Amino acid sequence: MERLQKVLAHAGVASRRQSEKLIMSGRVKVNGAAVTELGTKVGVHDQILVDGVPISSEAPIYIMLYKPRGVVSTANDDKGRKTVVDLVENVSQRVYPVGRLDYDTSGLLLLTNDGELANRLTHPRYEVEKTYIARVTGVPTNDAMKQLRQGITVDGETYAPAKSKVLSAADDRKTAIISLTIHEGKNHQVKKMLAAVGCPVEKLKREQYGFLTLKGLNAGEARQLKPEEVKELR
Ligand code: URA
Repeated sequence: MERLQKVLAHAGVASRRQSEKLIMSGRVKVNGAAVTELGTKVGVHDQILVDGVPISSEAPIYIMLYKPRGVVSTANDDKGRKTVVDLVENVSQRVYPVGRLDYDTSGLLLLTNDGELANRLTHPRYEVEKTYIARVTGVPTNDAMKQLRQGITVDGETYAPAKSKVLSAADDRKTAIISLTIHEGKNHQVKKMLAAVGCPVEKLKREQYGFLTLKGLNAGEARQLKPEEVKELR
């Protein structure tokens, strides 16, 4: 027997925390009766419905997407915009993005129905390194680069030290290309960090997620992870 919220997260319904909210709001039924008690334990033969829909016990699937700009990285969008899930084809399982990239950010995004792994990968303690390439306005000063490497606090939010490098600067010095590696995943983190040191982001792409790179994929394309890649992520 397992706790209901854990079973929901496992089945890829939502994160553990969100699954708890689903339960508390009365949207989860076990064997026909709404369950709002968080400690409830369920077994493999119990029928579990979320909003009347049975949760799946489908085979786990792990997908890497090269998210293009102009796509939301939620499973559903209330404004009807295209989502990253819409870009994943030939997959019968319901998959969810692991973390988020902004609407106007491109790059590597994982999608899976393995809620447990997704929760672990997005936990700051797990410290998956993510490398971003940013085009910024201006060229960061040595002091700006030092601040990024030391970690900064913006509006009361502290960002851990980032590995950062200026890769190139335009001849007119109006823009520069910077690489930034962070292990946290705070809201708009890269944009906020770079804006805080005087170099607002004009364009942002996530190049690398842990050991995974976008090699072989074009924007909008996806591929399933190889079993050895999934093993290494665990
Ligand atoms: N940091 C940002 O500011 N935006 C992203 O999409 C990812 C990281």
